[in-house]
Amino acid sequence: MAQHQKFVIPAKAGINRSENQQEIVIDVLNRLKKAFPEQGGLAIGNSYQCLVAVLLSARTRDEQVLKLLPALFDRFPDAHALAGASKEEILPYISSIGMFRQKATHLVALGIMLCDTFGGEVPKTMEELIQLPGVGRKTASVLLPYAFNKPAIAVDTHVHRVTKRLGWVKSHTPASTETQLLELIPDENKRIVNQVFVPFGRYICIKNPRCWACPIADACPYTQKNLERPKHADKIMAGIEEKRAEMKRLQKSVKKLP
Ligand code: SF4
Repeated sequence: MAQHQKFVIPAKAGINRSENQQEIVIDVLNRLKKAFPEQGGLAIGNSYQCLVAVLLSARTRDEQVLKLLPALFDRFPDAHALAGASKEEILPYISSIGMFRQKATHLVALGIMLCDTFGGEVPKTMEELIQLPGVGRKTASVLLPYAFNKPAIAVDTHVHRVTKRLGWVKSHTPASTETQLLELIPDENKRIVNQVFVPFGRYICIKNPRCWACPIADACPYTQKNLERPKHADKIMAGIEEKRAEMKRLQKSVKKLP
């Protein structure tokens, strides 16, 4: 990890520094969007489906969540179905993932609150969403851009690590990274931040980064770049493509409900 962690995006001569920073940020996001055009792993279905999917994903890989969703939504297609269920009825559908008992409790409470307070619909504001059982800022920040086209940035471990390396933030916590990114990135570009940085951080800008395969290396000030292409690079890239294809297949298996 770089030791400096300053905002190091260089200023171009004759351009206001903040405008220049935003130009570079937008350019990087657009380039990553071309490299990773697919929707985020759990940006699926309608707002209810996306909310349930993200709630279930705490400390669980997206793939594991996607695998259980078709059967879960078949049995519990909306908030009313969840509200009328018992925890014991939900457990068998989600027992393959971590913290499933706690998550089942949250799902029942979520259904009840959605029905009692929001007429069975998913609310559309951060303030309302974080009142829901099991829903924090991160869950709400995944949902808002995807389901309601609202500017928000969900900062997970990948977004946190990559934006620090890029020098976009100087931060020790995801919460502070979120605050700084919300200030830095224009509203119209916020909705793709999580979408592009999660796969980028998962496959390329990993702990020991694959800078040799990085499409934005020229815009990155990280001092410990790993630019030497390994002998088995082709195998690594083929493995990445396989994982992306599997993710797409799992996403498609979750049919969007009305
Ligand atoms: S050059 Fe390396 S450290 Fe910088 S963003 Fe790319 S993969 Fe990450």
